[in-house]
Amino acid sequence: MAFTHTIDGKGETSEKAFDVINPATAQPFAKCPDASRAQLDAAVAAARKAFGPWSRKSFAERRALIAEFAHALAKRIDGIGPVLTQEQGKPLGQAKWEIGGAVHELEAMCNMELGTQLIRNDGKHRVELVYHPLGVVGAITPWNFPIILAAHKIAHGLYAGNTMVLKPSPYTPLATLLMGEAGRDTLPPGVLNIVAGGNDLGGWMTEHPGIDRISFTGSVATGKRVMASASGTLKRVTLELGGNDPAIVLEDANADQIVPSLFRGAFLNAGQICMAVKRVYAPEKLYEPLVAGLTKLALSHRVGNGMEPDVEMGPVQNKMQFDKVMNLIEDTKRHKSVRITAGGHSLNQPGYFIAPTVVADADDGMRLVREEQFGPVLPVLKYKDVDDAVRRANDTRFGLCASVWTEDYERGAEIARRVEAGTVWVNHHVGSEADMPFGGFKESGLGRELGTMGLASYMEPQVVKIPLRSGS
Ligand code: NAD
Repeated sequence: MAFTHTIDGKGETSEKAFDVINPATAQPFAKCPDASRAQLDAAVAAARKAFGPWSRKSFAERRALIAEFAHALAKRIDGIGPVLTQEQGKPLGQAKWEIGGAVHELEAMCNMELGTQLIRNDGKHRVELVYHPLGVVGAITPWNFPIILAAHKIAHGLYAGNTMVLKPSPYTPLATLLMGEAGRDTLPPGVLNIVAGGNDLGGWMTEHPGIDRISFTGSVATGKRVMASASGTLKRVTLELGGNDPAIVLEDANADQIVPSLFRGAFLNAGQICMAVKRVYAPEKLYEPLVAGLTKLALSHRVGNGMEPDVEMGPVQNKMQFDKVMNLIEDTKRHKSVRITAGGHSLNQPGYFIAPTVVADADDGMRLVREEQFGPVLPVLKYKDVDDAVRRANDTRFGLCASVWTEDYERGAEIARRVEAGTVWVNHHVGSEADMPFGGFKESGLGRELGTMGLASYMEPQVVKIPLRSGS
């Protein structure tokens, strides 16, 4: 299968190419074209040329074209799914579910509009708030959910009237390049350009004078670099960064009922989700039942190559991440007080497989608790009272998501409001919805994606103050 960039509505290859590694075998399985700086310039120029006519279309016209793009993507699910599994590692069913989710989000996110808003009409003046498209958006995505995260940026970026140059992670570029083919068939040339390359390409984008806004999803460390680099041209920036999400279980929760949801929230996609459960705070009364329930599920979870049937969890996506997670496990083992009740080791086979790991009697100072593990390892911590749990949940530089688990939903909501995080669920963890603004407190990000807030972030607000003739 040949993979090409999408530049100005056409497929293009590059002089250079790099290997894409299948994390289930640790072997290269395909080559990806490596965009040159001249190709980035060509993509930006195409996006600038397309901006005028695209920005003048109505929301309804753009909605119709984005829906055609979504349909073209839906028709390709069976073709793109196996490529996503081979480059990312997730089981084939979950890869297809991700692409289906992207199709849904592309449609659901384009169901809202930002029309002219009346700020004031006091008889002397009418003051209006008008939203304008910004120009060319540079979108940069990570390797954990390449397709759905690209879809979030494409949906609101284009729907707001901007054009786009999107760059996937060099670890998982291929499915996104195939997504570009669906755009070639349905969107005007230059509206959606997709170029693959290394981290350098991301840096060129953030400093490029032809790009007006950066929509970045990735790690905190890179997010800080992106913000510094974008300051040179004062680009508008949104940063969707890492998390260290706490799940606070209250005394009245039903341990048997919540364990499957907690487990899924922590181990889906091998734990490689920005908003995965990364720390569980359990009251003394429920501590052992929760540890036992999570351990039982971890020990029976089927781990393997995502192309094989019945596999529930694939490998960690790349060697660097595998080494980081194994290093956290080794550090955890040095704490003699902890109990590793499931996993705690890699699988004895090629590929970056780590057994689902549950760590009981974890304490606040451990690196596993303080850092974002982004892998299939879950620490469970004991707390004395809810104030103690909330304080410890908030004692972090992250603030992406969190959850509170209880039978008393209103009390859960009260505690949720005290947690410093962009989204807090009661009796649920993980998931994004088209109308719910998503983003982080503190170092988990800047700005919001999704919802009308997300749509507005792709537009420039303008105040127009109009004098009124007396009597009008
Ligand atoms: P990363 O920061 O290493 O890379 C993300 C993207 O940035 C890649 O496309 C990469 O090529 C590019 N990049 C690297 N250096 C760059 C630079 N100097 N300038 C511009 N772009 C550059 O992140 P990752 O390891 O791919 O992803 C994992 C991280 O992403 C985790 O921390 C996770 O929590 C976070 N994440 C956050 C969200 C969210 O919505 N908040 C969603 C998914 C993942």
